[in-house]
Amino acid sequence: MTAERSVQLSPLVRRITADNPSPFTFTGTQTYVIGQGEVAVIDPGPNDPAHLDAITGALGGERIVAILCTHTHKDHSPAAKPLAERTGAPVMGCAPLVLEDLGPRADASFDDTYTPSRVMMDGATVSGPGWTLAAVATPGHTSNHLCFELVEERALFTGDHVMGWSTTVISPPDGDMADYMASLAKLEARQDAIYYPAHGDPVEKPQRFVRSLAGHRKQREGQILRLIDKGTAAIADMVPQMYAGLDQRLYGAAGRSVLAHLIDLEQRGVVMRAGDDWRRAA
Ligand SMILES: [Zn+2]
Repeated sequence: MTAERSVQLSPLVRRITADNPSPFTFTGTQTYVIGQGEVAVIDPGPNDPAHLDAITGALGGERIVAILCTHTHKDHSPAAKPLAERTGAPVMGCAPLVLEDLGPRADASFDDTYTPSRVMMDGATVSGPGWTLAAVATPGHTSNHLCFELVEERALFTGDHVMGWSTTVISPPDGDMADYMASLAKLEARQDAIYYPAHGDPVEKPQRFVRSLAGHRKQREGQILRLIDKGTAAIADMVPQMYAGLDQRLYGAAGRSVLAHLIDLEQRGVVMRAGDDWRRAA
């Protein structure tokens, strides 16, 4: 329906925003179309017929040759299957998560309909006329998260690993703070010229931005340790002190990220847990 939802950002990059704004998705999930004529679609988004219509409407007679997903949260990958059924394009990208019924990584935010025909490992590529996309493994936000490099424009599609409007949520057990920090360091060492995140504006000084994100997490870690040292032991009591002014609908998500920090500190031998309480390791 709404072809005007499609915005050309560079010679090879178009953005189509899904109509799913929320405190978690900002203005909505941003689906990217790469190339001209024979194109790739990154993060097709939620399974919303209007968004699928917007994607196919924006493409007109162009052909989708690859549907790629950065990870399998429900605002990113559920449109992959219906878009593949409409267009015949193969689904590829991140690995599906193994979601045992009571398994350690089961989580209501995960899309269990995602069944890629090709799982891309770190460094794997897919290409079309004038474009090449290479997978960059970036676990942390989720264990299966990939970024995709558009080689011809030195652009990196960062999914939810690096977002343009907010820090990402790290929700254990699938989300892992130590992995996330390592994935930030991995990006800082790269020479990308621009990031296109799934939520928020493009990031034009990416290495500096990634350094600030890592510094922000170190500050959060320091805050948590100071609170513990002053006797605040429970996450529910830490969050309001750490996130003054935060939309209270996001307190739960903030608590997940605090838990991710605490697990990381526990694994490094800095803190220990006693039931729901946390204290310094002896
Ligand atoms: Zn996500």
